[in-house]
Amino acid sequence: MNKTVFKVASLGSGSKGNGTLVSAGSTNLLIDCGFTVKETLKRFAALEFSPQSLSAILVTHEHQDHIKGAGALSRRFNIPVFTTQGTFLSGKIGECDFRAISPFQHFSIDKLMVEAFSVPHDAREPCQFVLQYNDKRLAVVSDLGSITQPIIEKMQSCHALLLEMNHDYEMLMTGVYPMSLKRRVGGKLGHLNNQQSIELLKQLDFDRLELMVATHLSEQNNCPRIVESLLAETFENKAIVYKVANQEQGLDWIELAT
Ligand SMILES: [Zn+2]
Ligand SMILES: [Zn+2]
Repeated sequence: MNKTVFKVASLGSGSKGNGTLVSAGSTNLLIDCGFTVKETLKRFAALEFSPQSLSAILVTHEHQDHIKGAGALSRRFNIPVFTTQGTFLSGKIGECDFRAISPFQHFSIDKLMVEAFSVPHDAREPCQFVLQYNDKRLAVVSDLGSITQPIIEKMQSCHALLLEMNHDYEMLMTGVYPMSLKRRVGGKLGHLNNQQSIELLKQLDFDRLELMVATHLSEQNNCPRIVESLLAETFENKAIVYKVANQEQGLDWIELAT
């Protein structure tokens, strides 16, 4: 019998589009679909993934970089969409096989256990997810302006993280964005800066943690080299694999040891 592999890949990560595939055997979830259907299928193909094998689409919130192709993909392949009422009521998904979820709800999609939890972000009812297969836990967390105690508690029990490291605060503040956008991105309902994400990581259990993927990097206000050096310093002498997901290629499949 084939051993079921728990694995994750990114279709692309950043303000131009996000999508994360999580797979455990025949159970395959897409978290967010911020690309057109055509672009999504191209990126699926690059990962040798078939859209017919999708079990569900999970949507975190209604910003374009997370929702753009979600409704159309769902309709084309008849895939249910799990999201909050608030996100659905934004109207950006349209008609679909909608399954309402609430933050802090646990539910199962075939072999995967899903835990939704709310995050501080300027959307109607944003949530992020922890996925569990057997006793392995993966957190996929982006688009939050600040870190709350419940978020820390969720992530403390995880073995793998895809965590936003959106911007370098200095680069954002001295960069070309208009002041209103700087305030939005850098605010408590915006996005995590590198330092906030590192502070969060330092509160986690490094003996449990196996993988950290930095996501949703700003192309304008961050630099993969800065992020990599911060992670290298944070995880020095620890057996933790760290990577950066980018906008164009995302990230190839990574197997989580089970
Ligand atoms: Zn986003
Ligand atoms: Zn957002």
